[in-house]
Amino acid sequence: MKKITIAIDGFSSCGKSTMAKDLAKEIGYVYVDSGAMYRSVTLYALRAGFIAADGTIAADRLEQAMPDIRISFKFNAETGRPDTYLNGELVERDIRTLEVSNYVSPIAALPFVRHAMTLQQQAMGQEGGIIMDGRDIGTAVFPNAELKIFVTASPEVRARRRYDELKAKGEEHALEDILKNVQERDYIDSHREVSPLRQAEDAVVLDNSHMTIPEQKQWLLDIVARHTKE
Ligand code: C5P
Repeated sequence: MKKITIAIDGFSSCGKSTMAKDLAKEIGYVYVDSGAMYRSVTLYALRAGFIAADGTIAADRLEQAMPDIRISFKFNAETGRPDTYLNGELVERDIRTLEVSNYVSPIAALPFVRHAMTLQQQAMGQEGGIIMDGRDIGTAVFPNAELKIFVTASPEVRARRRYDELKAKGEEHALEDILKNVQERDYIDSHREVSPLRQAEDAVVLDNSHMTIPEQKQWLLDIVARHTKE
């Protein structure tokens, strides 16, 4: 079977990362969570005090600091998934808080942030045999990917999944706050000037609102098999 590049894009919290990680494990590909990279930049900016309480971003200072932000992934044998490191520190948990989620979309809309992340992502995918998920993977990062999947589910279904996920980690929030965050991120991600979230013309749509995990897995394996036939 030939090794291809698989780009998975779609709205926030529609289960892209989980499906991409599981698929990568199943077919022996490298998985890269591009959202984790934007989240890491946001965590850095929050810690450095580049984001004021009213949400204003000190973009000049962040731009200057970009060369000091090093993001890497290390495979965790226990979870079977890669963990995210920011300047050598394990930040997998810290980048998934609602605070980071609340600021990540404006940070990800900054052209110099996108430029830096896109270059790093393209370098990671040079060899093929990679699954990357995000918002602009099939449109901007790997426009020539052999397989592009655009995932979607209703905002209510996505908010409920995010609520359950945060609750399981001991972070309890009102469902309506999470729904608001999901809708705000959808809006910013689809309306920003640089690489907005949109379905690539040659992407296959997967609406998983009413799909079980095993159904989704089978759907993915079938489509990968069709695209990797020599
Ligand atoms: O995928 P996840 O929800 O963790 O991504 C967090 C945020 O990072 C998204 O809401 C989006 O603003 C940004 N992002 C992006 N481009 C990507 C991946 C994520 O702009 N390729």
